[in-house]
Amino acid sequence: MYDALTARYTFTCPRHEQAQVALSSFRLLERLPGATRPAVYEVRFDCTCGDEHPGLVSHDDLDWAPLGAHAGQFLDLMTSRSGDSVSEFRETAAAHVKAGEWPWSFYCYPEGRSRPVFPSSFVAVSPGERWIGLAVRCPACESLSVNLVTQAHVDLPFANDVRIGVVDHVFAEDAVRTADLFSAELHSSRFDERRLHLN
Ligand SMILES: [Zn+2]
Ligand SMILES: [Zn+2]
Repeated sequence: MYDALTARYTFTCPRHEQAQVALSSFRLLERLPGATRPAVYEVRFDCTCGDEHPGLVSHDDLDWAPLGAHAGQFLDLMTSRSGDSVSEFRETAAAHVKAGEWPWSFYCYPEGRSRPVFPSSFVAVSPGERWIGLAVRCPACESLSVNLVTQAHVDLPFANDVRIGVVDHVFAEDAVRTADLFSAELHSSRFDERRLHLN
């Protein structure tokens, strides 16, 4: 489902059978009611075939797979020995967290502060030429904030942008219900530059 080495999710594509897409190609994410063990998220993603498709992702795949939770054996080309990428990823992740870095973070507009977050709190992603609009439901206050960030900030754990754009109002639920609505809302919004810092 998720390949930690390429940072891509695999979904079914009606045209090409399979599509490998990064988190930043997700457009909408919604937790399905009912399923709890594991929780399942319905996503819509921009496919490499040019269409938008629906897909399902488990909570585990969304939040933990990018940290290497399911990565398997890999062949180390330098030593020609196979290695265990799970422990490599885990060690790397643990070192980051010890240094006070969080895999993902965002700026909560109503609280006026940066907060650590996981992809399961992402609600919508809107592509742009230089910036990606990322709507996040704050795990602490549950309000919806929109940050303008780089693609790496979304796709790669521990690649937090130092400076981001923050849309200067709380988003209504309706404003991000479809990719078109979110894009239109973003284009009519003002945003301020903020520093993301967690410690
Ligand atoms: Zn497709
Ligand atoms: Zn908040």
